[in-house]
Amino acid sequence: MAMMPDVLCPGCRGKNVGKVGTGQFYCWDCYIEFQVSARGTRLYRVESDGELSRIERLEGLGHEVVS
Ligand SMILES: [Zn+2]
Repeated sequence: MAMMPDVLCPGCRGKNVGKVGTGQFYCWDCYIEFQVSARGTRLYRVESDGELSRIERLEGLGHEVVS
């Protein structure tokens, strides 16, 4: 098994994150999907119908952004 750095959720900084694809992860606490690439992290909200919508800011997630 390849060593992999822990991926933290950009929303809650938690580790309750599952991998859903190449460079794609899902946070079980925030119910958001995020994509990590060299260009940065993109966040997506998973809608009730399964569609992904881009989240431009973390506001509205119910989490404070801790830096
Ligand atoms: Zn989270």
